[in-house]
Amino acid sequence: MNVQSKTLPNDSAPDMTARGLAWDHRTKDSLISFAILFPVIIAIVGIALFFGLASKTLLMLGCVNVIAAVGLGLFSGTSGILSLGHVAFFGIGAYVTTWFTLSPDLKSFLLADMPEFIKNVEWPLPLALVVGVLACALVGAVFGIVMMRLRDTAAVIASFGLVIIAYLIFIGAKTLTNGKQSLYALPTDQANWWVILGSVGVALGAAFYLKATKYSRHLEAVRDEEQAARSVGIEPQINIFIFWVASAAIVGLAGGLYAHVVGVISPNGFYLEKTFALVVMIILGGYRAISGCVVGAVVITIAEEIFRKTEEHLSTFAGTELIWGIEFPMVFGLTAISFSILILIVLYLRPEGVLGYRELATMLFAPQADADPQDGTAPGAAFKVQGDNKLATEGLSKSYGGLQALSDVTLHVDAGEIVGLIGPNGAGKTTFINVLTGILFATSGKISINHSDATLWSAHRLARAGLGRTYQNIRLFSSLTALENVICAVTVKTPGIGRRQAQVRARSWLVLLNLQDKGDTLSCNLAYGDQRRLEIARALALEPNFLLLDEPAAGMNAQETQDLKILLQKIVDDFGVGVLLVEHDLKMVMELCHRIYVLNKGELIANGTPKEVSANAHVIEAYVGEDEEDT
Ligand code: ATP
Repeated sequence: MNVQSKTLPNDSAPDMTARGLAWDHRTKDSLISFAILFPVIIAIVGIALFFGLASKTLLMLGCVNVIAAVGLGLFSGTSGILSLGHVAFFGIGAYVTTWFTLSPDLKSFLLADMPEFIKNVEWPLPLALVVGVLACALVGAVFGIVMMRLRDTAAVIASFGLVIIAYLIFIGAKTLTNGKQSLYALPTDQANWWVILGSVGVALGAAFYLKATKYSRHLEAVRDEEQAARSVGIEPQINIFIFWVASAAIVGLAGGLYAHVVGVISPNGFYLEKTFALVVMIILGGYRAISGCVVGAVVITIAEEIFRKTEEHLSTFAGTELIWGIEFPMVFGLTAISFSILILIVLYLRPEGVLGYRELATMLFAPQADADPQDGTAPGAAFKVQGDNKLATEGLSKSYGGLQALSDVTLHVDAGEIVGLIGPNGAGKTTFINVLTGILFATSGKISINHSDATLWSAHRLARAGLGRTYQNIRLFSSLTALENVICAVTVKTPGIGRRQAQVRARSWLVLLNLQDKGDTLSCNLAYGDQRRLEIARALALEPNFLLLDEPAAGMNAQETQDLKILLQKIVDDFGVGVLLVEHDLKMVMELCHRIYVLNKGELIANGTPKEVSANAHVIEAYVGEDEEDT
C-alpha cells in the first residue's frame, strides 16, 4: 500500500473538487426515481381511464396501495425490521380523517355520542387528511418509544401487537368508530384525482427525500452492522424512531384516502387480511427500495383484482354438477391463497423482490458515482488531537457468567503513542476493547477519558468522545459503498456538514488509505485487505483521539502488513492519535509500539517497553504454554 501524503490541513480549505452539482448518488437516485415514477403513475392512471381499462375506484385504490406500500417500505426497508403493524396506522388514518369529513348530520346518526367539538365540524378532505396524518405520527411516536428499543423477531411481534391493539380499540371505541358496525356514506366525492395524485406525489417525495438524508444512511448502517454503527457514533434508536414515525404518517395518509375512495370502513378492513396484503406488496416488489414498493403495490393491485374476479366467477359454478354427480365446490379465499403462492414463487426466484435492492434510477442508468474520478487530487484528510489526552482503565473486570474474561486491568494510553496489547488466544484482548468502547459493560472497574468517568457511557457516546475502533472480524456496512461507510462517520463527527463537503472529506480518508479507486464499490465486494483498511478509514473519519485496533493485520500478506505499519506510524505522527494495538503479529508489535501490556487469562501479567516485555519470564511462559496447548 502506498500511503498518500497529507496535503491540506482540513476541509475548511477551499473545496477544490466541488465541481458540478452538490449532490451525492443517493440524492441523484432519489430525484431521478421520483421523476420517473410519479409521472409514470399519472400516465398509467390517465391511459387506463382514457381507454376504460380499469374503474376509477380500482385506479384510486391502486394509488392508495402505492402510498401505503411506500410508507411501510420506508421503515421496513431502511431498518430491516419487517413491520406487521402499519395497518394500525392505515386504520387510524381512515377513522380520524372520517371524523372530520363526515357531515354533522351523519355523525349525529352514526356516532351520536362522539364529542361535540368533532361532531360539529365538516372539513374538506385535504385538511382532514392533515389531521389524520398528524394523529398517526403522534400514535407512531408513542409506540415508537417501544419500537426503537426492539430488534429482529421482538420488533416484528411487537409491531403485530399494534395491529391487534388497534383492532380491538376500533371495535371498543364505539362512540368514535361505530364499533364492529361500518361507518358508511363517507363523502367519496371528495376523493378526486387532485387529492389522490397529489397525495401520491407527497408520499413519494417524502420517502425519496428521507432516503437521501444521512438518517437513512445511518439507519442502513444500523441494519447492516449495528455494533459497528454504534462504534462510529450512530445512535440507532433515534434513526429507527424517525423512520417509524414518518412511515406511520405516510401509511395514515393512505388510510385516510382509502376511507374516502371506498366510502365505507369497518375494523375488519384494518386487520389481518390488509396486513398480509401490505406485506406481500413490499416483499414482492423489493422492500429495500422505494421503487420496489411502488412496483409491488401496482402488481398486487392488479393481481388482487384478477384473483377477486376469478373467485367471483368460479362461485357462480358452485353447486353445479361437474362430473358423475360431483358438484363444483364453493371457492373461498382464492385471493389469499393466490397471494401466498405468488409470494412463495417470487421469494424462491428472487428473495430480494422483483426490483431487488436498487432504486429505479440505478436499474435504468449506470449507478451514479460518488467518488470523483480525480480522487488523487482530493485534499488530504487531517486533524490534530489537541491537548493532553489520556485514555485509562482502573481495575477493569468483566465476567461472562462464571468465566472471568478480564480481571482488574489497569492501563492507560496517551495521545501520540502506540501501545500494544498482546496475549495468547482467549486472553481477553477483544473483550477489553469491547468494554472500552461500550459494546460490553464492565462488571467492575472504571474507564476514563481525559479524567472524565466514561465507565457507563454508551458506545455511540464513547465514539463521539473520540474513541475510534476496528474489529477483529471485519464489520463494515455491507450494503453501503466504501465512500458511504466513511461518510457515516464524517456526518457523525460534523452533523451539519453539507453533502458535497462530506463526500470530499470522506474521500480524502479513502485517499489516505489508498482506497481512492474503491469509493463506489460496495464494501462487501472489496478485497479483504481493502476491507481492513476501509475500517481504519471509517474510524479515522471520526477524527478520534484514540484508535483501538483489533488485529488489523490479521489475514494480510507481508507487504500489506509492512504498509500498515507505515500507515499507523503516520497516523500517530501526523494526527497525534493514541493507538491501542491488539495484534498477534509480535514482530509488528515490537517494532511499532512504545509500550506493551500483556494479558493472560484476563489478567495483566506484564507491561513495559518491547525489550522489557520480550524478556519477561511470565510472558515467555504464557506464550510457551499456548504453544504447548496448541501441539
Ligand atoms: P483471541 O486472540 O483468540 O481473539 P482474545 O484475547 O481476544 O482472544 P476474548 O475474545 O476477549 O480473547 O475472550 C476472552 C475469553 O472470554 C475467552 O475465554 C472467550 O472464550 C470468552 N468469551 C469471549 N466472548 C464471550 C461471550 N460472549 N460469552 C462467553 N464467553 C466469552
